[in-house]
Formats: sequence, structure tokens, C-alpha cells
Amino acid sequence: MERKIKLPPKPRSLLLRLASAGFAAYAVGGCVRDSLLGLVPQDWDICTSAKPEELLQCFAGERTILTGVRYGTVTVLLEEEPFEVTTFRADLGYSDSRHPDGVRFLSSLRGDLARRDFTVNAMAADAEGTVIDCFGGAEDLQNGLIRCVGTPQERFAEDALRILRALRFAAKLGFSIEENTAAAIHALKERLRSVAPERLRKELKGLLCGRDAAAVMNEFSDVLCVILPELAPCIGFLQFNPHHAFDVWQHTLCALQRAEPEEALRLAVLLHDIGKPSVFSFDKNLVGHFYGHAAVSAAMSEKLLRRLHYDNATTKLVTTLVREHDLFLEATDERRMRRLLARHGEETVRLLLRLRRADRLGKGKGGEEEIEHATAEAEALLTRILREEQCLSLRTLAIGGDDLIAMGVPRGRQIGALLQRLLNAVLDGKLANERERLVSYAQTLLSNEEND
Ligand code: ATP
Ligand code: MG
Repeated sequence: MERKIKLPPKPRSLLLRLASAGFAAYAVGGCVRDSLLGLVPQDWDICTSAKPEELLQCFAGERTILTGVRYGTVTVLLEEEPFEVTTFRADLGYSDSRHPDGVRFLSSLRGDLARRDFTVNAMAADAEGTVIDCFGGAEDLQNGLIRCVGTPQERFAEDALRILRALRFAAKLGFSIEENTAAAIHALKERLRSVAPERLRKELKGLLCGRDAAAVMNEFSDVLCVILPELAPCIGFLQFNPHHAFDVWQHTLCALQRAEPEEALRLAVLLHDIGKPSVFSFDKNLVGHFYGHAAVSAAMSEKLLRRLHYDNATTKLVTTLVREHDLFLEATDERRMRRLLARHGEETVRLLLRLRRADRLGKGKGGEEEIEHATAEAEALLTRILREEQCLSLRTLAIGGDDLIAMGVPRGRQIGALLQRLLNAVLDGKLANERERLVSYAQTLLSNEEND
């Protein structure tokens, strides 16, 4: 059966340009898959029989970037929009599990499709939108299946990252992983250890943020534990606590499914309880407790995120969310909210509220309406504090170091400490942020110190 997709004008024009220069050229991979699914492709990748130097000649009038000429890839910019154009190629092994050791350029499309990971990613379309499907990708797409092109063992042995990619696509598309492909994933999962963290991170993000993340991570938890061994003790760890319906891992997955698909938030949900197994205790009534688990989880998270080479900002954000996730946050407690905002800033606190919401919903103990209501109230409070431009930092405190010096406080550490105490008093609502009041409060503090 002939299948057609619609190409937007720009990628179509690139295909036509290559064709008029005598080369074969197709849109390929994700864009064809997504078009057949009725989704809007993120980007249009193109493959062609033109060799890199021929490509550059063909697009001499356009801005081009030599993205990976060694591997046959040139990026062509059409009015700022980038298109990756890659020569038909076969990959010659992946001894470092990172880059192909080398590539062999090919003259026909079929070999290029054969090197691709999954059948749903191994379809191409010509300038008229006619789909070329050599490996049954369209049928797998219809049946919602992720299946390797070729023999799964061989394909995962060539490049172990494909193991994580299979989970990523299953989660993103809501697909199942075909039986033989799934068996090979379980069998070869240890090979993921050899994959560079930079490559893992991108696929892990896709997996975590996928619509079916929880189901896929449940089915393939053994695979996930190869790169995130900290999760292993959580699986099946019973909580013996009336507030929890699930074991630690099932709770984590349940919470994950309730969190918005945003990388930092989902990472925080995934990691928020990883310290629980190591701090478990029973009380005399045989109720389970996890005292101090948030701090332990945060310390473990930081190590884990560094091991995977997450950037500093993400590491700090996620670690903070994990550390703070268990704080008792009364929606109407304005003082507490100001303190949190002063300490962590708006972005972190907003995410913290979403994390707490997902965490509470993930306990499987009902009370959803109350949880949503409490979250909405806390968010409204946060918004109001920001809108009122309340003082949340030394920068907006109505008194500064110079004022204290003028009052006779010696320069140095004492100034900073005193300002911080004044700010805390303002954050706690004990004191209005007005100069006169701050000056007199500072005087009181100073004379108390002298009397001590
Ligand atoms: P997305 O829309 O999520 O980016 P995509 O299919 O475009 O999905 P990419 O990671 O951008 O995924 O890869 C582009 C294409 O390159 C894939 O569709 C697949 O055909 C091929 N590909 C990418 N990585 C690999 C790999 N490690 N092994 C084999 N083929 C791969
Ligand atoms: Mg892509």
C-alpha cells in the first residue's frame, strides 16, 4: 500500500535541489514517523546520495555548517531554520559505544535505512511525500511497536545506547517493545555501562518526560538500574506506613505519572525517595518511618547527577527540590513561603510545589481534591507575594550596610550578619520593611549584644 505524507516547502525545496543536481534525496527518520502519526515533526532530516563535498557545492548559495563532515552530515540553514543533510551511509562498528569507528558512504537509500535503529525510524519519503518503507515500519507504527531493524542482539551490541532509545521511544509514543527486541534489551542491558553519560542523558530525558514513562520504567526497571543503580533498593521496598499504599518504587512511578513532563521536575520525582531504604526504621507499633530521608536522597541525587555529567544548574535545582520535598508547607503560611522564596527563588519554589503535589498524589491514598486545592492555594500565595513585590532579599531591604556603618557598627562580618537578621525579621513578618523601624530594630539588636 502506498503511503503519503506532506512535506513542508523548505525540506521539499532541499530535496528538489539535490534531485536537480542528479542526486537521490529523501526526508528520513523521525519526521516521516511523526508525519504518519499525524504529529508535527520537530525537525526534518534529509539523506542523500550526494557526498559531503557535493552537498556543499549544491548548497553553495546557502549558509552551511560542517556538523559532522566525517560522518557525512552538513547542516543547511534556510532562513535560520537548520536542516541536517546526511550522505547515505553504513556505520562501521561502535567500539567506544559513542561514535561509529568510521562510516562507509553508500549510493542507495536501502543500506542507509538498514543502519537505523528501529523500523518506525527507518522510513523515508521523497519530494512528493511517497513513503519508502523497507522494514515494515508503517505496520509497526500502526500496531504501536518498537522493533529493531535486523537482529536485536546485533543492533544493541553495535551501539548499546539503542537500548535506552527503545525505552525512550516506547515512553514517548506510548508503544510496546516487540518481544524479541525486549528480550535482547534485558539480555544486553549491562552494555549500557559503556555508553558516554552525555548520550545517556538525552535519552533519559526523553524517557522520563514521555507520556508512558512510568509503565516503561516499570517493565524495564532492571535496565534503568544499570545506569541508576541507586534505584534498585527502592524496588519492592515496603513502607509499612498508613500514609502509603505502595512500595517506594511503585510510589515513585505513580508520582512520576502525575508530574508535568519537565526534565528537572521529573528527575526530582524519580530521585526524591532514593534515600528511603537506607534510613528505614520501625517504631514500637511496627509502623515504618524514614527519618531524614530527604537529606539522604538529596546527597545521593547530587552524586548521581554529577556521575551523569548533568550541568551545575540542573544538579543544584534537582538536589534542592529533593532536599526540600518533605517540608511541611502550609498553604496559608506566608512566612514560610517568603523564607522559601528568599532562599531558593521563584523557579525552584514553583517546581517544589509541583513536586509536592505529585508526591502526595502518588501515595495512592486518595484526597486528590484536597491536594489540588492546597497546591492551588500555595501557588496563589506565591504569586501574590511576588506581585506585591514584598522584600525577599538584602537588595530590597530598606536599610543597607552604609546605614549600619553610620550607626557605628564596625565594617566586616558583623554587618552582613546583622543585615541577615533584619531580613529574617522582615521575612517573618515581625517587622515592616521601613527604614525607621529597621534602624531602631538594629539598635535594639546591637544594645542586646552589648549587654550579653
Ligand atoms: P525525535 O523526534 O525524538 O528527535 P528522531 O527519530 O528524530 O526522534 P533522533 O535521535 O533525532 O531521533 O535520530 C534521528 C534518526 O537517526 C532516527 O530516527 C534514527 O533513524 C537514526 N538514529 C539516531 N540514533 C541512532 C542510533 N544510535 N542507532 C541507529 N540509528 C539511529
Ligand atoms: Mg530528531
